[in-house]
Amino acid sequence: DDIRVAPQGSAAKGIPRPVILIGPPGAGKGTQAKKVAALYGVPHLSTGDMFRDHFRRGTELGVRAKAFMDRGELVPDEIVVAMIEQRIAEPDCAKGFILDGFPRTVAQAEALDQMLSRAGFLEPLVIHVKLDPALILRRLTGRRMCKVGGEIYNIYDCPPKTPDRCDRDGGELVQRDDDREEVIRERLAAYHEYTEPVIAYYKRRDLVEDLDGSGAPEVVTHALFAVIDRKEERGSHL
Ligand code: AMP
Repeated sequence: DDIRVAPQGSAAKGIPRPVILIGPPGAGKGTQAKKVAALYGVPHLSTGDMFRDHFRRGTELGVRAKAFMDRGELVPDEIVVAMIEQRIAEPDCAKGFILDGFPRTVAQAEALDQMLSRAGFLEPLVIHVKLDPALILRRLTGRRMCKVGGEIYNIYDCPPKTPDRCDRDGGELVQRDDDREEVIRERLAAYHEYTEPVIAYYKRRDLVEDLDGSGAPEVVTHALFAVIDRKEERGSHL
């Protein structure tokens, strides 16, 4: 339904510049990235979702990553970078993609720069999704995720129609293992230490646009589409 509120001229034809959503846990990156992916017809690349999917399938990578995730720590750069490099090389990424949860360290950002320039992509559009710290805990402790399709709800602000069931496919809604309060603290510390410098890294090249993530999902989506359309139009004329 958000497609109807989207600005004109953006219908599912890809995005010339890769888009990066960066922001604290709970900022709504996953929710918003799914909307962008659907509207522009590009893949949504969430490293967190990829790791959770690996773990569900019982792969060695998934089991390794899960140990870090459960402590609220970052998975080592070389693991994440290798996974993203493979994914970006797949043909569906040729018309652009949206990154959610990557890069989270300056080393990852540097690796991404190399991947993008090797593959002939434009420099990324980096959208910094800001969230009032008072809202972070409410967003994270209230978050529930569909076991089947990964749809995201919030029991306080964005509840499903039927308790514990996904509106879309009826799947069971569960809390992420790392959305417990003591793990949340670690994740915020990791964000502050490793990921905030990534924003500074891109700011130096003037690639960052700020977005207020504290509103209702539809409000944020609308503002996000506006930023992308404005910046992409310029990007495509480079
Ligand atoms: P997310 O779903 O984006 O909140 O990610 C969940 C967890 O997966 C994080 O707390 C990290 O442990 C791990 N993770 C996801 N993306 C990355 C990344 N780019 N670098 C390191 N660890 C990551």
